[in-house]
Amino acid sequence: MNRLDIVEIEKIERETPTVKSLFFDWGEEFEPGQFVMTWIPGVDEVPMAIARKGYDFITVKKRGEATEALHEMETGDKIGVRGPFGNSYRLEADPILMVTGGCGGASLIQAVYEAEKKDKRIICCLGARTEEELLFRQKLYEKTDLKVATDDGSAGRKGFVTELALEIIENEKVGSILTCGPEIMMKKVVEIAREKKIPVQASLERYMKCGIGICDSCTIDGKQVCRDGPIFSGKELEMMDEFGRYERTKDGRLKEI
Ligand SMILES: Cc1cc2nc3c(=O)[nH]c(=O)nc-3n(C[C@H](O)[C@H](O)[C@H](O)COP(=O)(O)OP(=O)(O)OC[C@H]3O[C@@H](n4cnc5c(N)ncnc54)[C@H](O)[C@@H]3O)c2cc1C
Repeated sequence: MNRLDIVEIEKIERETPTVKSLFFDWGEEFEPGQFVMTWIPGVDEVPMAIARKGYDFITVKKRGEATEALHEMETGDKIGVRGPFGNSYRLEADPILMVTGGCGGASLIQAVYEAEKKDKRIICCLGARTEEELLFRQKLYEKTDLKVATDDGSAGRKGFVTELALEIIENEKVGSILTCGPEIMMKKVVEIAREKKIPVQASLERYMKCGIGICDSCTIDGKQVCRDGPIFSGKELEMMDEFGRYERTKDGRLKEI
């Protein structure tokens, strides 16, 4: 739907030093992995993954003007929500391995809730630079078989989350892999999945203006992340030259990641 709904922020939770979740009552139906264009009056409109646990919520990492404005919001403030847009994660396989880092959990958390309803086993590899930056650690611990990796070794295994994922794949049968997080991490996950012949789905982030396939800002090798994605299969990603190498700036120029 391309209607703009105005919603009031009912609750705010700090997840990590740079990530907050904003809760509101929107009520539209959506699938795991879909996103909404979030309007911050007077500032900008930006894509955010949408999830629901009691209230609807978005989970926002502070990066620039729009996300800083979202971090400054208080309960009672209003934002605009347009969507839901994009495709969704397929959750048929069992067990599902999730590999996530940075703010990727914002896109994957709804898939965790849905997979739980379908009685799927989820193994989750969660990575961050430091312990305090691990997103949704407690929520994931309650709902998944959680393995943790940090770059500095402050929690879980010291090293990359992809090393943890490889170890799991080598030790047990995994039906499919879902990944969301820094693109360099997702590129590695897709390579591992290809080598091990496991279906993989990755959710991409590109700069977006319209969210509905008109402006073409989010193009990657001829596909539009807003309309053809944001979730792409391993096979689609293998055909993309720009995946893991280039993104587009606000004015449309290719820039190395
Ligand atoms: C489908 C989709 C879902 C998303 N879901 C979430 C989410 O759930 N939570 C969340 O925190 N963020 C999410 N994002 C990213 C979020 O939209 C951007 O962080 C936000 O638009 C940045 O706006 P800004 O004005 O704060 O920063 P800007 O001033 O626009 O950018 C600051 C810096 O952040 C980086 N950046 C900005 N936009 C992007 C982007 N789209 N991809 C990669 N790097 C970017 C660039 O390095 C840029 O220099 C999602 C993006 C997409 C495409």
